[in-house]
Amino acid sequence: MNRDEIFARSKKERQKEREEEAQRGQGGSGTFEQVSYTALEQHQLKVVRILGYPLNVRDDYENAQFSPKLIQVSWIIGDNGKPFRCIWPNPHDDPSWIMWRIFNMVTAGRWDSEKNEKVFDHKGTHPRSWQTVAKNGKTPDTLYYNMEKGWKPSSTVIMNVIDRERMDWHQSEGKTFLLSKRVSTKTNNKGETTYFYDTGVPRMVYDQVWDTIVESQGDFQNYDVGIVKLTESPWYQVYHVAKQAEFLTRFDPNVVALGTENALTDEERMWKQWDIDKLFPVTSYQKLKNRLSATIQMIDKDFGKNFLEELEELAIKEKAERNQNAGHSVNDEGDATFDPDEIEAETRDEIKVPAPPVRESRPTARPTRKPTSANDVAFDPKSLDPDTYKGISSLSDELLNMIIGVNPNGTLIYEVPPNIQTYECNSCQFPSPHNFDFCPKCGAEFA
Ligand SMILES: [Zn+2]
Repeated sequence: MNRDEIFARSKKERQKEREEEAQRGQGGSGTFEQVSYTALEQHQLKVVRILGYPLNVRDDYENAQFSPKLIQVSWIIGDNGKPFRCIWPNPHDDPSWIMWRIFNMVTAGRWDSEKNEKVFDHKGTHPRSWQTVAKNGKTPDTLYYNMEKGWKPSSTVIMNVIDRERMDWHQSEGKTFLLSKRVSTKTNNKGETTYFYDTGVPRMVYDQVWDTIVESQGDFQNYDVGIVKLTESPWYQVYHVAKQAEFLTRFDPNVVALGTENALTDEERMWKQWDIDKLFPVTSYQKLKNRLSATIQMIDKDFGKNFLEELEELAIKEKAERNQNAGHSVNDEGDATFDPDEIEAETRDEIKVPAPPVRESRPTARPTRKPTSANDVAFDPKSLDPDTYKGISSLSDELLNMIIGVNPNGTLIYEVPPNIQTYECNSCQFPSPHNFDFCPKCGAEFA
């Protein structure tokens, strides 16, 4: 074998290694593929086909990793003063995860039903730790202090979708999108715009799709769903676009027309879907150690605990397990292991992702005009069958105006002023806004 042959052989071996690395997702940032998101926009109808198995049974089926997944996400201010994304295990899966124990310890308390707020045991006794964990270090004079959730994670759903407005992109890329709650942009001084996508959508979006559409219409892979993000309660509205088109007159008719009940095409089935399990793993102990050692040390000191020591041991164990699974040793820093969460959070500012669809075809995006009156949607609640909706005749016109459509399962779609909640009727469990004096369904008078 001459040297050329040896080098050719080595090249082949290296190619094989690279393929194996890519398959394991261990290739480091060099082989990391940027996730493609599509985001909801306020008062715009987003027409999507949700792919996969239902969230609460996904793990029992093959290819579960591509199905909608519930994750717990928070942005925590690290020792260096910068926020990092932390993904927690669901509390019922792993309540003893170290961060859950620290969080529950520091924010322990009880509910004061008179004041209607939580009274914290350690807010006064360990103010430094409490402020760090409960409020991410924010002080009461800070803007949005009341809304600050600190380390507390939000229930978020990640799902693969086909965006009906971006079929060109799907066809040319051969991939699906992950659905995101929001996109924000930043333009640098060269005029280059970068897009940042929120991780997933709030759990309530998935639940609403399930409760008002899927329960009565079945498999969500068989029809397109329309999702509208609102600026006030109930925050989101969802539609079976093909069946409810008549209620969607306030949206661009070209967009409404995109929603069908057509079966997925062979081409659509072939598109590469994102591996949600791999992209959104629970945050590693190594990362927690890197970001929060000083913070946890402070909490240990306040509470007389040894969480930092425990975390360091967990990080060592984790590294050993990863090395074993990887079948070869990573470098001494233990950071060579692929951590998509780390990459995404760390390089958030540098990532270029596909731009949202151009809205040129829409004459009016109407971002400022709120769809609050029934006139907007050409729906007349008085046209509802009085035998099915017995309370309609008892409601004032003002209340009737809040009814803007019917869901496929027969519940009504409401558009209500801020701070008005929806409650279920005591007699028939039918939901309606709490300012309704009669149940629209059974006609019961509310006390
Ligand atoms: Zn009722």
